[in-house]
Amino acid sequence: MTSEKFTVEKVLSIQRWTNNLFSFTMTRPAHFKFTAGQFARIGIMVDGELIVRAYSLVSSPYDEILEFFSIVVPDGAFTSRLQHLKVDDELYLEKIPYGYLTLARYQQPAPKDLWLLATGTGLAPFLSMLQDFSTWQHYQQIFLVYSVRSQAELAYVARIKEIHESFGENHPNFCFIPVITRDATATLNQRLPILIENGQLEQVAGQNFNVDSSHIMLCGNPEMVEDTKEALKRRGLKMNRRGEGNIAVENYW
Ligand code: NAP
Repeated sequence: MTSEKFTVEKVLSIQRWTNNLFSFTMTRPAHFKFTAGQFARIGIMVDGELIVRAYSLVSSPYDEILEFFSIVVPDGAFTSRLQHLKVDDELYLEKIPYGYLTLARYQQPAPKDLWLLATGTGLAPFLSMLQDFSTWQHYQQIFLVYSVRSQAELAYVARIKEIHESFGENHPNFCFIPVITRDATATLNQRLPILIENGQLEQVAGQNFNVDSSHIMLCGNPEMVEDTKEALKRRGLKMNRRGEGNIAVENYW
C-alpha cells in the first residue's frame, strides 16, 4: 500500500519559531503537482505503522521543494514525534494533493478585493497563494489577517514582507494585519469575529467587506472558522457554493 500511494522524501531544513511551532522543508517529487491552498498528506513510520496527517503547503506550486508549518499538539501521536525531525530524516508523502481552498473556486463575484483570514498555522495556504503571481495579477487589493496568541507566535512576518516585495512589487494595495489576542498593547487584540462585528478590522484595513466584490477565505481554528463565518453572514456576505459567493473556509483540525 505504502509504495503505491506514497513516496519517501527527505527533510531539507527545519526552522523553529517557538517551543511548539516549527516549519520544515522536504524534497518534492516531480509528479507532485498542486494548486496554491491545497494540502498534502504526510506520513511517519511508528513501530512499523504509517501515521498520516494533513498539512497545508506553504510553498508555491512553482517551488522545487515543499514547505510546511506545524504546531506540536500536546500528546499528539504525530506532531510529538514530528517535532524531533532532523535534516535528512525520511517522511512519506502521498502522491496526490487535496483540498478546495483555492482561488480557482471563485467565479462570482469577479476578483477584486481578497481577504485571507488565518489563525495560527492556518496561515500556510495563504502564504502559498501569495507566492503565486496570478494572485497579485487578479486582485486589486489583498488583506492578510493573521491572528495569534502572542507576539512570539507571529511566525513568517519577515517572509510576508519579502513575498510582498518580490511578488507584489507593483501592487501597493497589500495590507498585512496582525492580531495578537493575548497582548493588551497590540493594535488589534480581539478575536476575529469581534473585530468584524465592531468594525475595527475594516477600519484598520481602510476597506469594507462588500458582497459584490469580496473574496474572503478563512483557515485555522475550527471554532474561529465557524464564528467568523457567522459574523460575516450577519454582514450580508454569502458562503461560496458552486463558484458563487464570498466566503470559503478550511478547518485545520
Ligand atoms: P489557537 O487557539 O488556534 O489560537 C490562535 C489564534 O486563534 C489566537 O489568536 C486565538 O485567540 C484565536 N482563536 C482561538 N479560538 C478562536 C475563536 N473561536 N474565534 C476566533 N479566534 C479564535 O492556538 P494554536 O496555538 O494555533 O492552536 C491551539 C491548539 O489547537 C494546539 O495546541 C493544538 O492542540 C490544536 N491544533 C491542532 C492542529 C492539528 O492539526 N491537529 C493544528 C493546529 C492546532 P485567543 O488567544 O483569544 O484564544
